[in-house]
Amino acid sequence: MVAAARITRIRVTEFWVEMQNTGVDYNGFNLVYEPGNTRRLTHYLFSVETSLGITGDYIGGNPVAVAQVGMLAHYLLGRDPFQRERIYNDAKRALRKHDRMGLGPIDIALWDIAGKAYGVPVYQLLGGWKTHLPAQASTYHGDHQPGGLSSPAAFAEFALQCKEMGYRAFKIHGWGQAPIAQEAANVLAVRAAVGPDMALMIDPACEYTTWADALYVGRACDEASFFWLEDPYKDGGISAFAHARLRGQLKTPLLQGEHVRTLEPHVDFALAGGTDYMRIDCDYDGGLTGGLKIAHAAEGLGLDAEIHAPGPAHRHLMASIRNTNYYELGLVHPHMPETSPPVYVGYSDALDAIDANGCVPVPQGPGLGVELDWDYITSHTSNTLVWE
Ligand SMILES: [Mg+2]
Repeated sequence: MVAAARITRIRVTEFWVEMQNTGVDYNGFNLVYEPGNTRRLTHYLFSVETSLGITGDYIGGNPVAVAQVGMLAHYLLGRDPFQRERIYNDAKRALRKHDRMGLGPIDIALWDIAGKAYGVPVYQLLGGWKTHLPAQASTYHGDHQPGGLSSPAAFAEFALQCKEMGYRAFKIHGWGQAPIAQEAANVLAVRAAVGPDMALMIDPACEYTTWADALYVGRACDEASFFWLEDPYKDGGISAFAHARLRGQLKTPLLQGEHVRTLEPHVDFALAGGTDYMRIDCDYDGGLTGGLKIAHAAEGLGLDAEIHAPGPAHRHLMASIRNTNYYELGLVHPHMPETSPPVYVGYSDALDAIDANGCVPVPQGPGLGVELDWDYITSHTSNTLVWE
């Protein structure tokens, strides 16, 4: 048993990271390969301090989450940091007019506190048993640069490189505004290059204009025996009705749910027939507490839950659930740095982070089990918010 505790201080540290060879594509949102260009990104460290002298730290979130943490701060101060389920439910109600993004970073920091207090990695608190997770190489969006991911042949060559490195799965993020025939050709070219025994996925990230475009590329996925088709078109990934209709036309399983938030909408989407796999992102979906609920809801429906994006918290969750397949490592590219900020000591989500079996390890230290590079964070801090 650990001593009674309360939350004494909440801190958000905003810091910047300069990404080499990085630009954005046509609409200014997707990060893409741009040789010689440097792009400055903002990241956030959420720290929850307690009366035990233990601080929970989590790097993730976004400006919306920061604003919502500000809305929750007065409620959190003085609370017992081990009452995660209570905090989840109270914060869920408090943020009901918003997307609830602020809950995730706080909840993950609370799990970090619990692991540190009990002296075990978070996955052991979750009943986890896996120590290594099969990874999927998840690419940057396609670009238009020489030597980049600028053609189906370039994607095919990179997929083969990943296969030879040991990856068992490869996920394409296609181009912005590409001719739809090029997207379908990419599906077929990558399958032809890697042969039948690598799991392949495509995530257009809602770039396709119409439902018909989604169907067209989906039929290529059928031909190429893809593992899943994810968020294909500009409904924004939120129409269960439209994706149920799409599922009726395709053999390829759909992966939806990245753009609906928290447990109940995920369950509604699955019950409406809108997806085959259920998506989880602890950052977006109420933390590890919320992510675990979605994983178990999927289990109750007999479905698999696939975890979005890499990071220490997601490794702990994946280590702890049966019904899941691939860890999304990335984003990766032949010539670009990893998208995760370079703030961990001895932890990486870069292309070369896998072992010979195509797996990444689950952190074994207490809490989230990763050591932060405080020199880097301190020297790159652009703003600090404190509630106490
Ligand atoms: Mg996605």
